[in-house]
Amino acid sequence: MTELPARRLLLVHAHPDDESINNGVTMARYAAEGALVTLVTCTLGERGEVIPPELRHVGGAALGAHRRQELAAAMRELGVEDARLLGGAGRYQDSGMMGLADNDDPDCLWQADLDEAAGHLVAVIREVRPQVLVTYDDNGGYGHPDHIKAHRIAMRAVDLAADPAVRPDLGAPWDVPRVCWNRVPRSVAEAAFARLREDLPGLPFAKSATVDDVPGVVADERITVRIEGDRRTAAAKAAAMRAHATQIEVAEPCFALSNELAQPLFTTEYYEVVRGPGAEADLTDLFAGIEGVA
Ligand SMILES: [Zn+2]
Repeated sequence: MTELPARRLLLVHAHPDDESINNGVTMARYAAEGALVTLVTCTLGERGEVIPPELRHVGGAALGAHRRQELAAAMRELGVEDARLLGGAGRYQDSGMMGLADNDDPDCLWQADLDEAAGHLVAVIREVRPQVLVTYDDNGGYGHPDHIKAHRIAMRAVDLAADPAVRPDLGAPWDVPRVCWNRVPRSVAEAAFARLREDLPGLPFAKSATVDDVPGVVADERITVRIEGDRRTAAAKAAAMRAHATQIEVAEPCFALSNELAQPLFTTEYYEVVRGPGAEADLTDLFAGIEGVA
């Protein structure tokens, strides 16, 4: 087996752009520190709404191909070299927003067999042996079917990867020591929106989103890890988000999705440890306190 870096972080996301919005600072930091940062994106976001008018005619597989390029550009901004698509490009299609007929498409992620989809991730987990896995909470942060499914796939794969009886052909078992969910503390979100409403007249967005539009907002006491951006990692995050130009319009310190509602661009990222050590801690490093990690 080739030698792996001492620290290894695996992030599981639904669509290209989710990684930069949720974890851009974290990914840039650990990549620069020499950790192995592996991103697994479950779909190419073929059903995303496109912001630039000149690209609005692009949809379906063509949009997926375009967003794959955006994802590659974002990874260059973050310094991340290991970005993969679950089961390979195009294996799972974007399911669209909850309740749409798109959710019934047999090729969409929402309809995917859980253990088959998790099996693709088991292979990645056993190959890169991450000490930390980051994904969404059980509501996918905000109820999008692909985000919920990405959560289920990630949590199922953690269980399966540790079980020596499961798919020995996919490599030796690996028990991921720590699992974290993407979070935003409620007090931070509320303060950021208060500032944003004051800044709004100077921004290119007419209206503000609300705290309820931000995925993963929870009571402050549930936050166990805080990754604070510095000038370099905050700039890398903003640049990575800009790379997803079909999906995101950045106007620091804010951004907007296709709904054109301004929301804060968080340069500190927050996590809740849901498995492994650190659930009671106040950490500033995702790897802190994990046995055997330098
Ligand atoms: Zn998404």
